[in-house]
Amino acid sequence: LLEVAGLRKSYGDRVVLDDVSLTVQPHDVICLIGSSGSGKSTLLRCLNLLEEIDDGVIAFEGREISDPRVDPRAVRSRIGMVFQAYNLFPHLTVLENCTLAPRLVHGVSRADAESRARELLGRFGLAEHATKHPDRLSGGQQQRAALVRALCTSPTLLLLDEITAALDPELVGEVLSIVRAEAEAGTTMVIATHEMAFARDVATSVCFLDRGRILEQGPPAQIFRAPEQERTRQFLRRVL
Ligand code: ATP
Ligand code: MG
Repeated sequence: LLEVAGLRKSYGDRVVLDDVSLTVQPHDVICLIGSSGSGKSTLLRCLNLLEEIDDGVIAFEGREISDPRVDPRAVRSRIGMVFQAYNLFPHLTVLENCTLAPRLVHGVSRADAESRARELLGRFGLAEHATKHPDRLSGGQQQRAALVRALCTSPTLLLLDEITAALDPELVGEVLSIVRAEAEAGTTMVIATHEMAFARDVATSVCFLDRGRILEQGPPAQIFRAPEQERTRQFLRRVL
């Protein structure tokens, strides 16, 4: 589904991603772990063409999307992304947030977009909040709504960047349980996270990033129980 090879990205003379290669197959749930500043967010942003890359190739659905001639909007209509915070448009209701992209980007009728959005909002316990503005919702409800909005376009790939990092601890679980349900439903995801227990439960594969490199990748049982690299061990000792 997604193939990254030899990806490099620098900000000025600071190398942020260094020869990153990664393959994502349909139904994979890949968790990116690693210290702050290791490059997790930058990698996700590159995948969604929010950053220009210096070198390497990103291919999505067999097409080289790192080619500068590719329209980023067309790619972003197939690859959904949810960020840590400030995801929803504040001046629109939850329902309007969820139907905007399907209607404007995908040409879905208002009625169809609303019925799909209401179905997803209902499934995620947000039915009664559909006509409210985001500032009337709790942080956890807002992030759930942001996930629904991303899912409304039926993206082939969903990128999640620390979507629970800005939440009060008691709200983290309700958001992660949606991600877990989506993983079980077979949605393909790449997730940057500091929630190690979640990564261990949900990931099909865990990537440990260290100073812009994927130092180690493997099934969660291996990475968490028997990491091969000393730097992975050090990181896990600090966070577990
Ligand atoms: P965290 O766990 O804190 O979210 P991260 O792994 O997501 O960290 P990135 O945000 O990808 O890390 O940042 C990687 C490096 O790139 C950091 O050293 C950061 O300072 C640098 N960086 C990120 N964005 C920019 C930018 N727009 N301009 C310059 N440097 C940047
Ligand atoms: Mg980050």
